[in-house]
Amino acid sequence: MNKNFTLLIKSLLILSIALISVSCTENVFYLLGEEEITLEVHSSYTEPGVYTKKEAPVSINSTLDVDKLGDYTITYTATFNKKEKSLTRVVHVVDTTAPQLTLIGSEQSILCPNHDYQEEGFTALDNYDGDLSPLVQITQVSNGLKYSVLDSSSNLAEITRLFTIEDTQSPVIKLIGYDHILLHQNADYYEFGASATDNCDDVSENIVVTHNINSAVLGTYTVTYTAKDQSGNTSSVTREVEVTDNIQTVVYLTFDDGPSYRTLEVLDILKEYGVKATFFVGKKSAEYEPIMLRAYQEGHTVALHAYSHTASTIYVSPEAFFANLYLVQDWVESVTGVKSYIYRFPGGSSNMSSSFNPGIMTTLTQMVVDEGFHYFDWNISSGDGNSKTTTAQMIYNVTINCRPGRNNVVLMHDSASHDESVAALRPILDYLKSIDAVILPITMETPQIHHHINN
Ligand SMILES: [Zn+2]
Repeated sequence: MNKNFTLLIKSLLILSIALISVSCTENVFYLLGEEEITLEVHSSYTEPGVYTKKEAPVSINSTLDVDKLGDYTITYTATFNKKEKSLTRVVHVVDTTAPQLTLIGSEQSILCPNHDYQEEGFTALDNYDGDLSPLVQITQVSNGLKYSVLDSSSNLAEITRLFTIEDTQSPVIKLIGYDHILLHQNADYYEFGASATDNCDDVSENIVVTHNINSAVLGTYTVTYTAKDQSGNTSSVTREVEVTDNIQTVVYLTFDDGPSYRTLEVLDILKEYGVKATFFVGKKSAEYEPIMLRAYQEGHTVALHAYSHTASTIYVSPEAFFANLYLVQDWVESVTGVKSYIYRFPGGSSNMSSSFNPGIMTTLTQMVVDEGFHYFDWNISSGDGNSKTTTAQMIYNVTINCRPGRNNVVLMHDSASHDESVAALRPILDYLKSIDAVILPITMETPQIHHHINN
């Protein structure tokens, strides 16, 4: 073979190898990282990139949305010697996180026998689907309820609420009235009763009261109140009743804001029971003067209250106050012929309706005493100053608070609107008779009952 020809072949071979090797190295282009990537929704995507020799320009085309489930193709295009070459990668955005299922209330509850469970509620929140609470399924399992929910990617959340069905709590009994009662010898025992509640059952009607009180025989007796629930849990409380012959229950019935035609009904009832009361009278009205006179003539005390009952008028100054007091004093004297010094402050000496004039009650309570008046508040309110108080509540308020061994001053009203107070009077008097109470009208000898001064 020709030597030159051999040389030419060799040269061409070397050149072509060189060209091939140049073109091969210039076209090196591959993905860094995996061809398929799985990414949890809402997490961030880090682009692994591609490799190109000599950093050829690469454009990336992607519609990847990490907040939306789906399969996304990312296309990488590199240009080599004006020729484009592309690679792709697939990113799967998935949701593998189960909803967060949370129970409202306890996961372990004690349930009363024969009581339905009242669902306390639950919440199911999913990282991708949001609030799934309406989709929660509740199924009964042994000893409880199973709550489950699937999200749109079929991720399951489950939680169980367990119940123990039992009732080991006893009823709670509360005495109405005091736990130690003084009873006059030979008086009737008046049962105030008790109330009972239970964690599971209505036991209010299940109280059994037992006692062996014999009020003819002095001594201390026990009244027992027992209640049992449906599971047989029992509890009892006791009240002591002391039958005694050396105490007195003294009661002063007082009626404010009259006279009115209502006063006639009060006078009739008092006459029927043969008891005397005290009327703290108010606004001058010739129409009611005969009623006031009748009260006086029947042995009741006609005492002073309020010519004007308006706090902003009478508590504005000592002068205004005494002008008002002397008006009512003069009026009563003009009708009964007696100058009364028995007085009750409108609102009581503890009133706060005078608070617009700080300290006025402190001043006035001292001044009325200095002027020779005896003022009387009360230690039992019938509650009839509030128009919502029912007759039954008034009877309760008076009887329950009437205590042996002290002077009980009862506040009631006999102004025209107080028909409920009149209705309460007979039952109150029946009770007072049953405990042998001594019912008296207030006189200048009666120990004064004073409230705490608040202004
Ligand atoms: Zn009044």
